[in-house]
Amino acid sequence: MTRDPAASGPAPSEAGGVLTIDLGALVANWRLLAARAPGAECAAVVKADAYGTGIEAAVPALARAGCRTFFVAHIAEGRRARAAAPQADIYVLNGLPPGSGPAFAAERLRPVLGSAEEIAEWAAFTRAEGLDLKAALHVDTGMNRLGLAVADAVAMGERGLEGCPVGLVMTHLVSAEEPDNPLNARQIAAFAAVREAFPSLPGSLANSSGAFLGEAARHDLIRPGYALYGGNPQPGRPNPMRPVIGLEGRIVQVRWVEAGDTVGYNAQWTAQGRRRVAVTSVGYADGFPRAASSADDRAGADAIVGGARCPFAGRVSMDLIAIDVTDAPPGVGRGDPVSLLNPAITVDDVAARAGASGYEILTSLGRRYARRYLD
Ligand SMILES: *Cc1c(COP(=O)(O)O)cnc(C)c1O
Repeated sequence: MTRDPAASGPAPSEAGGVLTIDLGALVANWRLLAARAPGAECAAVVKADAYGTGIEAAVPALARAGCRTFFVAHIAEGRRARAAAPQADIYVLNGLPPGSGPAFAAERLRPVLGSAEEIAEWAAFTRAEGLDLKAALHVDTGMNRLGLAVADAVAMGERGLEGCPVGLVMTHLVSAEEPDNPLNARQIAAFAAVREAFPSLPGSLANSSGAFLGEAARHDLIRPGYALYGGNPQPGRPNPMRPVIGLEGRIVQVRWVEAGDTVGYNAQWTAQGRRRVAVTSVGYADGFPRAASSADDRAGADAIVGGARCPFAGRVSMDLIAIDVTDAPPGVGRGDPVSLLNPAITVDDVAARAGASGYEILTSLGRRYARRYLD
């Protein structure tokens, strides 16, 4: 067990919450995804601080396991990934901001180019510098977000790259987590046409959920993010991934409330009988979603206290969550741990109770936690 030297969090004994990040599970998830894509390379998407888990810990663990290609969103993230993986190919998904060529060159970062302007700028910059640093070409097959339109990409073809160094052509799925959505087949067909226009470039289509769409979605390189961190790539079906994140808060105070008493801001939760309530030192300022609050007409998230599953009582506040521990062992009290994320209550479970996305919960993981990394 190690503490990440780059983590700026407090000591576990003083923290409101302790976040445990299981790097062994992260690596096992990467291996599982790699095994799902035989013949293809498995990259890792580590944007947004490796989905909140910490680039400085996640990237070296994945690189040691054999991951050679990483995707980030921003140049600054790319710089941190570079320090953690000196040999890797690192792509920057959000493209080439005007004039940023030198920043890419300094860290050997590869822009993901999605427009004629970006292609022209990267071509001119690399030519002027005599730099052979291959970018990726992003083609938009349906998201209407980033990338060249399919027709423009096909019209351009490989010759149209005009000396712009490109080593990968990619697109991104819109609804890969819905295997029956007809958009998947449309995007897969469109990308096949794009590949024909760039016959010498390897291709990449699948994100986490895309890796579960079968061989037509595989191509040469898969780009999972969410599933690496334990998220379920197949919602509604058993999760094949290992949980990576654990979160424990600490009981600050336990109190009894009487029938009819309310708990928390705006009196949203009313005790239906005499209840014991444990107030825990984690709140929405730690990134725990306020939408996971409970109310008289709505179940919120649960926690595990003294081995018992216990429901939230009222609103999640900034630094505290009240939990109905009436059914927990009578001895639980001040200083005892409260498990908010664990193998039985996953990020996906909290997301479902909060009406949120598990991606959002992961990437909101707070800076106030003490972080503990398991190897
Ligand atoms: C974020 C992202 C991914 C990873 O998606 P997950 O659903 O987290 O696996 C892959 N490709 C692109 C272009 C992305 O933006």
